[in-house]
Amino acid sequence: MSLRLLIIGAHPDDADYAAGGIAALYRAAGHGVHMVSMTNGDAGHHEIRGADLARRRQAEATGAGKVIGADYQLLDNHDGELEPTLANRRQVIHLIRTFRPDLVLTHRPNDYHPDHRYTSQLVQDAAYMVTVPPIVPETPHLSANPVIAYVPDEFCKPYPFQPTVAVDVGPVVDKIAAMLDCHTSQFYEWLPYNTGILHEVPKATGERQAWLAKQVKARLRKQAERFRDALVARYGQGKGGTVEFAEAFEACEYGAPLDDAAQRRLFPF
Ligand SMILES: [Zn+2]
Repeated sequence: MSLRLLIIGAHPDDADYAAGGIAALYRAAGHGVHMVSMTNGDAGHHEIRGADLARRRQAEATGAGKVIGADYQLLDNHDGELEPTLANRRQVIHLIRTFRPDLVLTHRPNDYHPDHRYTSQLVQDAAYMVTVPPIVPETPHLSANPVIAYVPDEFCKPYPFQPTVAVDVGPVVDKIAAMLDCHTSQFYEWLPYNTGILHEVPKATGERQAWLAKQVKARLRKQAERFRDALVARYGQGKGGTVEFAEAFEACEYGAPLDDAAQRRLFPF
């Protein structure tokens, strides 16, 4: 049976940054994937901004989606100004009801970026309510709450990320790098500028792709070590002990339970 994965990030590179591997695995298996950014990304640059930047980021996100054959939707909310309002909650309820996902992935509610926090809050606020008929009555309600899970971060308070399930993304690691390579304004311009390493970005296309791919692999390798216990629990000591690149997800208690049966159904890799 075909599955449907909805990844709701705050910005037009969060979905593929944190869950590009699971997205690529889903598409490779013929499942449906829809990536969403709650904001249009119009504040994520040091030289351009506003509508010009939002247009550029939609084009970049569309390109990233094309790498795996998935849509990448940007909602028209200002970057850096997302709030957990009733209007935005309705937007998320509509989104979930329209796509009818089996699995929703989003940020954790404790995160350095307010847009990440409020995206998580909005998804939490939409959980359960997607099944309530009088809420957003113009969009037919769901008969069941989807499974909702969080993508990893490194924040420790009030508690560190706890993987419910970890996935070997080695078979698609090049696809993840190729998706992130599409976000030129971010990985080659804004983020290096913001972290003071703009001078390190290679000028030639091939060289900068290799530079980014190296960073992507280093991060996913680190995640495999960090989530080794969950990998072993999932794949057994032999394979689980040798997985090189991993993504992991933590169940949100407000979605449907991510129990053993749901894990086998939603992570059939
Ligand atoms: Zn973000």
